[in-house]
Amino acid sequence: MKIFVVNAGSSSLKYQLIDMENEQMLCKGLCERIGVSGVITHKAADGRVYTAETLMPTHSEAFEAVVYALTESEAKVIDSFDEISAIGHRTVQGGVDFTNSCLITSEVIEKMREWSVLAPLHNPANILGIEACIKTFGKDIPQVAVFDTAFHQTMEPKAYMYALPYRYYEQYKIRKYGFHGTSHRFVGGRAQELLGKEHSKIITCHLGNGCSITAIKDGKCVDTSMGLTPLDGFMMGTRSGTLDPSAITYIAEKENLSPADVDRIVNKESGVYGISGVSNDNRDVEAAANAGNERAKLAIDMQRYQILKFIGSYIAAMNGVDAIVFTGGIGENDSKLREYVCDNLKFVGVEIDKEKNAVRGKEIKISTNNSKVSVYIIPTNEELAIARDTLEIISK
Ligand code: ADP
Repeated sequence: MKIFVVNAGSSSLKYQLIDMENEQMLCKGLCERIGVSGVITHKAADGRVYTAETLMPTHSEAFEAVVYALTESEAKVIDSFDEISAIGHRTVQGGVDFTNSCLITSEVIEKMREWSVLAPLHNPANILGIEACIKTFGKDIPQVAVFDTAFHQTMEPKAYMYALPYRYYEQYKIRKYGFHGTSHRFVGGRAQELLGKEHSKIITCHLGNGCSITAIKDGKCVDTSMGLTPLDGFMMGTRSGTLDPSAITYIAEKENLSPADVDRIVNKESGVYGISGVSNDNRDVEAAANAGNERAKLAIDMQRYQILKFIGSYIAAMNGVDAIVFTGGIGENDSKLREYVCDNLKFVGVEIDKEKNAVRGKEIKISTNNSKVSVYIIPTNEELAIARDTLEIISK
């Protein structure tokens, strides 16, 4: 059985085709510049590549280009789209209405539209992707929505409420929702399997372009670092993470900034990039730090310290920890960051094997046999998680 996984952005479309017999990816691809011009890059798992420039005024034409790539191009992987059993969509903000993945119906699309106010960049794009799929592939093929926020719906009010006047929660649903849920669930579930015990306290660190940390007790999220939006938590490539809101009102007044200006500054001009002035990519910033750039060094130091503090607070929140998981581009590759964090957690019994920690991007336990806490690198695979959910839902 083959499942098609879609991640639709406002002007882009990422996809993968996964064979669920062996959970192997058959191909992946990306359509870009939708609405402007249109270009598709399609890669089969065996290395064949197909690229083309083709007009994509809407997501529907992008899907038509994808069908050609899948079934007719020099990198084709199937003979007909009929071989695909279902489509799984990465969807971002499900609010309090979606605690699990679900079959997409017109009611589901309506609910997603309602939650768009809290995810204006993501939900409308996800809906465009779903509607274009219905238009291109018809209503008979089942489609499933897998929400980034769903896994975090088990948080208690004491974890998800902001200490603002209560009416903002009632009127505008202002609270913490959390993101990257599909990734935290995937790597957290795998860690629980590896730990081999029913009751577990796991901290998952998804460190990529966006970063978040989640505390998972007995398989359920109890707290997570991202909030109402994916800006909250600790500093990321270009996002500030948590800061004193007064800093914002002060700067806004001084420089006569609009809410949109402020939004741009904290989302796109801050974080590792804002501090270092070098790049939003940790590799470039680390190279600059090694070459003596003081601001680059400060950015790296700040990011590591903030990650450590989040992990420490979640150990306290769960009254202990059995496993810590690193995932995402930074989590899987940056051995120095892992070493810093783990060395500073010696007081709770964390001990890592420096040789094992030198490994990159593959699943491995990097803690020693003496360590009281298991530390893992577990590469995330959100597409596979979406495909698994889709298969489970259509099999019911
Ligand atoms: P996304 O969140 O977009 O999926 P990734 O999970 O691929 O992003 O993470 C991308 C980030 O991973 C890059 O910005 C880079 O900072 C970081 N990264 C990749 N390789 C390394 C490495 N060897 N050392 C440090 N950071 C790395």
